[in-house]
Amino acid sequence: MSESSFTMDAEWNALYIDGEWVDAGDRDDIAVENPATRETVTSVPAATEDDVDRAYEAAAEAQSEWADRPAEERAAVVEDAIDLLDEHRDDILQSLAVESGSANAKAFAEWQTAQGMCYHAAGLADELDTETQDSMIPGKQNHVERVPMGVVGVISPWNFPFNLSMRAVAPALATGNAVVLKPASATPVTGGLLLARLFDEAGLPDGLLNVVPGYGSDIGDRVAGHPELDVMAFTGSTDVGKRVAATAAENLALPAMELGGNNPHVVTEDADLDAAVDSAVFGSFLHQGQVCISINRHLVHEDVYDEYVERLAERAENLPVGDPTDRENVIGPVIDEGQRDEMLDYVERTVEAGATLETGGEADDLFVEPTVLSDAENDMAAACNETFGPIAPVIPFADDEEAVELANDTEYGLAASVHAGDLDRARDLADAIDAGMVHVNDQPINEEPSVPFGGVKASGIGRYDGDAILEELTQTKWISVQEEQREYPF
Ligand code: NAD
Repeated sequence: MSESSFTMDAEWNALYIDGEWVDAGDRDDIAVENPATRETVTSVPAATEDDVDRAYEAAAEAQSEWADRPAEERAAVVEDAIDLLDEHRDDILQSLAVESGSANAKAFAEWQTAQGMCYHAAGLADELDTETQDSMIPGKQNHVERVPMGVVGVISPWNFPFNLSMRAVAPALATGNAVVLKPASATPVTGGLLLARLFDEAGLPDGLLNVVPGYGSDIGDRVAGHPELDVMAFTGSTDVGKRVAATAAENLALPAMELGGNNPHVVTEDADLDAAVDSAVFGSFLHQGQVCISINRHLVHEDVYDEYVERLAERAENLPVGDPTDRENVIGPVIDEGQRDEMLDYVERTVEAGATLETGGEADDLFVEPTVLSDAENDMAAACNETFGPIAPVIPFADDEEAVELANDTEYGLAASVHAGDLDRARDLADAIDAGMVHVNDQPINEEPSVPFGGVKASGIGRYDGDAILEELTQTKWISVQEEQREYPF
């Protein structure tokens, strides 16, 4: 056991239910692999459906007393977690590097955003005041309270595991809910057990956060379909999300769904090309392209197309690839062989369909080279699919109308970016792109705790972050007080 309880070599072989670390016993093991070295770095127990039931029962039991506490008391626990995040920052960054292949810039951004989510959650205490509203009935006072939804189930993915769990867990707890968290099986520590340890050490009362690592295929239906569930906060792929939402809705639990994306980066001929390419490199290659809001397609005006392709390919070729525990490396490994093979297949099919491979296209074990494809078209495999890899297909357009048509020609609508010299033109393009988030003179990878985050079309239902998260995690309760005797018609 290491000195810090937040490193990967700390003790993780337990579930966290009702404030107890439950030993693995005879449960199956989930081996956690460092994707850079392929070594097994720890193992965690695979929770069973019975474990999920116990987690929900504990959550339901603990929730009402927690909801009755003053919001400031709940916020104080989250504030203590913020201090622990500071104290254990380097260990958390290291764990993100080892478990999810995160290079330093990504790991740091993830830690920082997760901490921002905690600050934001603690501040939500001020948003829970009761509003008084006029009544159309003489002598009546209307009070509208915001009350917690009850028990929130959180299912999170492996790509930004710590932040994507935290952005649901911290505000859920701060607003008086209890939580059952199922992290992705590739990242059970940084997406789950590490949050349990953090809130445990921060003094969260028993039962309010329960963590059940496991495979979606084994326990996913139970997590999404448990009768005690009130909100299903899911972040992951659209296919799984549809199933999870349907299962949750059967019990009338609210689905809050953050799903896949196919995000366009539009560059007009009057754009500052240096800035557009800088953004493109970050937006396509951060975390090996494994971000729901990565650039999936580069849409570039034909007048600057060749220059853009040349510069992007040169930058991509020179990105340092290797083990992310070496801080020099910008491109780490992708999460597993399945993901790698799918990415390489998209590249191969795109080249077969007539695109030109400018750079990349190969992999050394799980290290996939940053790849740029020119002469690409919207219906080619690397463009029309969410590749979730370091792959940049570049597609030309002739005018703004065509750029918008191409940008919107996808089932998804998560994020987008637009580079244009004329800001009015950029705003017009941003208005016309059908996405939940559009960033002008930037790239799409942005998440700010105080600004609503989410997509349209197949990219999800609802919004995280900002005050919008209150719509997911709380509901209104109308209490009216008839202060003078009311006159009825009969
Ligand atoms: P995934 O859908 O395969 O898995 C997400 C989670 O769902 C994991 O915890 C997994 O174990 C669980 N799961 C799998 N099958 C399940 C089932 N039948 N029932 C219940 N849960 C089940 O996604 P992934 O591969 O982990 O992540 C990549 C995807 O997530 C991409 O599509 C990406 O765009 C999306 N994503 C979206 C956002 C967003 O905010 N919109 C953020 C990150 C990732």
